[in-house]
Amino acid sequence: AHALQEAASARLALRNDLKAALHITAPAPQELLLHYQPQINAQGQLHGVEALVRWNHPQQGLIPPGAFIAEAEASGLIVPLGNWVLLEAAAALRRWQTESGHATWAQPLTMAVNVSPRQFREPDFVDRVCATLEQLGLNALSLELELTESVVADDLEATLAKMQLLRQYGVRFALDDFGTGYSSLSYLKHLPIDTLKIDRSFVMDIDAQAPTSPGGKRPAVLIEAIIAMAHQLNMQVLAEGVETPAQLAHLKASGCDIFQGYFFSKPLPEGLLLPWASQRSQE
Ligand code: C2E
Ligand code: CA
Ligand code: CA
Ligand code: CA
Repeated sequence: AHALQEAASARLALRNDLKAALHITAPAPQELLLHYQPQINAQGQLHGVEALVRWNHPQQGLIPPGAFIAEAEASGLIVPLGNWVLLEAAAALRRWQTESGHATWAQPLTMAVNVSPRQFREPDFVDRVCATLEQLGLNALSLELELTESVVADDLEATLAKMQLLRQYGVRFALDDFGTGYSSLSYLKHLPIDTLKIDRSFVMDIDAQAPTSPGGKRPAVLIEAIIAMAHQLNMQVLAEGVETPAQLAHLKASGCDIFQGYFFSKPLPEGLLLPWASQRSQE
């Protein structure tokens, strides 16, 4: 009981600290920040980036999202957090566009932003996305919202209506962590999804040294099936968590369109993205 109490009070402390961190008052040092992980297309060009939130806690140091997103979701703080992420990611893209004059990438560079179920369900979500794009003068085509299967499975009708509305403005959608949820596949053909993101767990199964697994099945057979299905549905496929040349080679041979993972780059602070991109294009 004592341990439970301690865990509960630690969660409460984290929640209060997160509340404080969300009061982003100008002169105070900013605790929340975004890193951006490059996404590379099959031609080797920078296709886009995924915005990933980090929390620089005053006492605990850098806390990864895995340690506070669930708590933020449970407490509802995910809504202001998600709104801040959207605004900051859009602003960063605008700053890169201004700085680079578009020179270093295939246009338009996509900014992928994670949207939690609770955030997506907010009645003013569509308005907020549109207002953010307008405020920054960003083309909607450069924004890709990443939804998970749980959002979609939640309430298909309502989800579909919201997605279609945003789609009319040009906003794109990715289905995140594909293959890890329990939802049925039947919803896939109804939704305006542009990109299917194959979860890292499938990519980890690829191993060039072991063409067959102990069970006798080729480990990557599911990846090939997912890619074929996605292409039939006119979706592009992005593989996440690509770490090795063997994984990349296999994914390319299987027809995967876009790649993201440590093999190319870890998530980078805003100021390092343009230098990274221009160095790459000179190689
Ligand atoms: P995700 O959306 O699946 O994001 C990919 C995660 O995999 C990131 O972890 C990224 O740093 C990590 N990763 C990328 N490439 C590799 C690789 O090659 N190897 C390995 N081992 N890992 C790789 P991160 O940044 O810790 O984020 C964890 C999760 O937190 C994200 O998973 C996402 O679900 C959530 N998250 C992050 N930022 C946000 C946000 O702004 N809003 C919401 N709602 N969720 C977020
Ligand atoms: Ca994601
Ligand atoms: Ca993912
Ligand atoms: Ca994942």
